[in-house]
Amino acid sequence: MALKEETPASFELGPIRPPSEAYSLLIRVTKNCPWNRCKFCHTYKGEKFQLRSVAKIKQDIKTARAIQDKIKELSWQSGYGSSVKEVAGIILNKPPNQAYYNVALWLYAGGESAFLQDANSLIMRTNELVEIIRFLKQTLPSINRVTSYARSKTAARKKIEELRELHKAGLSRLHIGLESGYDPLLQYMDKGTTAAEHIIGGRKVVESGISLCEYVVLGLGGKKMWREHAIQTARVLNEINPDFIRVRTLTVNKRMPLYSELKNNNFVRATDEEILEEEELLIEHLDCHSTYVSDHITNLLQEVEGKLPQAKERMLAIINRFQALSPTERTRFIVGRRVGIYVQLDDLNDGHKQRVVEQVVHKLSEGSNQLDDKAIYSLMEGFI
Ligand code: SF4
Repeated sequence: MALKEETPASFELGPIRPPSEAYSLLIRVTKNCPWNRCKFCHTYKGEKFQLRSVAKIKQDIKTARAIQDKIKELSWQSGYGSSVKEVAGIILNKPPNQAYYNVALWLYAGGESAFLQDANSLIMRTNELVEIIRFLKQTLPSINRVTSYARSKTAARKKIEELRELHKAGLSRLHIGLESGYDPLLQYMDKGTTAAEHIIGGRKVVESGISLCEYVVLGLGGKKMWREHAIQTARVLNEINPDFIRVRTLTVNKRMPLYSELKNNNFVRATDEEILEEEELLIEHLDCHSTYVSDHITNLLQEVEGKLPQAKERMLAIINRFQALSPTERTRFIVGRRVGIYVQLDDLNDGHKQRVVEQVVHKLSEGSNQLDDKAIYSLMEGFI
């Protein structure tokens, strides 16, 4: 089986999508981030924001359709009939380009979801975004779910009727980076959005019928603002009551403005154990009906998840279980987690994994079995 194209078809792809959109078809409706100033974010630094024309976006959608048709044709030619999974799987092993990879992955997973890139698609004119979503669904009718990133500030500026129109056209979910609900921290991190705007924007999205996922960065307050970060973030989330709250843990790299703050000691990172205390405080203060999701590899306890308010006690009990471990076990779990050996607390009962982690701790600490915070941070950042 071979792709008989000298220059395989291709279309624009942006750098990221949420973890939950791993199998979505990616359609880039704008390029980069119109704000691009958040200290903790490196994704689009150095890149200029650009709106893309409706014509160009439609051309990309048509190309995605052509790639889909090609994969389907190959499937029939290879004797698999209408089952595209096998051929999609073969293409995934050796894709001619990233666009083919994306379409093959999307088809492999059933071809139902699309994610509109990049950082803030809501910034497009509403009528143009509506036109794009309609065109996408007409051109690729298997798509029954369309999602995108947005900024709270932009959502707050949209009229509720505009958001309803987008929902009617097929926009199923918006992913918004709330990060924190504590104004001094939002200001320090140069988020460009206030807690009040988070609430207005978030509530409008919920009211429009578009499903809402709000992202929170655990550890964002560092050692100085962790308590207010937890309490005020819970307050803002309670006011919004989004469908999903997704947490991820702060990591710092050289491409982030926060890196120099760290070097100047203007920002002091919280340790894994302190961040867990912050997460405990956040959950304790949550009084909403959201589903709390911890699907990011950076989170120490990814098993702390569930539908609120029912799951609250169970989620807190998991944190307390970690906190009740001996200092040696806590260090072992943190290291095991940060090198990708442990996934959940029950893994501590696995004798084989324990021996491997103990060897790692022994090696990294040069025999002392004591690891400082910096060593743990570099393990985490090296792993992701
Ligand atoms: S708004 Fe989002 S994408 Fe833009 S700089 Fe901030 S975190 Fe990064």
